[in-house]
Amino acid sequence: MPLTDACHDDGGLRLAAADAGLLADSIRSAGLKVTAPRLAVLRALTDRPHSNADALFGAVHSDLPGTSLQAVYGVLASFGTAGLVRKIEPAGSPALFERRVGDNHHHIVCTRCSVVHDVDCAVGHAPCLTPADALGFDVRAAEVIYWGLCAQCQADTSAP
Ligand SMILES: [Zn+2]
Ligand SMILES: [Zn+2]
Repeated sequence: MPLTDACHDDGGLRLAAADAGLLADSIRSAGLKVTAPRLAVLRALTDRPHSNADALFGAVHSDLPGTSLQAVYGVLASFGTAGLVRKIEPAGSPALFERRVGDNHHHIVCTRCSVVHDVDCAVGHAPCLTPADALGFDVRAAEVIYWGLCAQCQADTSAP
C-alpha cells in the first residue's frame, strides 16, 4: 500500500497499520509464519465471520491478484491446525470459518436465508460438554447447531 496515496487520510492509514500489526501478531503467536495471503485471509475473516472459502477468496483476491482458491484453502487449513480459526459445517452448507475459537460457543442457522449467528452455551458453563454417557471418550468439543427462521425471514411474508 503506497503511504503517499493522498486519498487516504493519516488516521485511516495508522489504523490500517495497527490492524495489520495485530493480525500479524496473532498469526505469529499461533506459531505460523506471517505471509501476505495469511494476513489477507485473517483480515477478511475478522470482517466477516462464518465465511466459506469461496467468500474469503472473493474478499482477498483483489488485494492479492496472484492468489487462488486453492491457496485460500491452504491458508485456512494451516490456520485450523494452528488453532487460529474454527471450522463449522452446518448440514447443507460448505464449511464456514471464524476466528472465535476455544470457547465452545454454538451457532444458530436460518433454514431459509442461511444466515449464521453465534450463540453462547444455553445454561451454565459448557453443559453440553458433558454427555450423559461419554462411552469412555475424552470429550474435547461439542457442537450444537440451532435451526430456525431468523427474525428477518419471519417478517418477510412474501417468500415461500
Ligand atoms: Zn433468514
Ligand atoms: Zn461462531
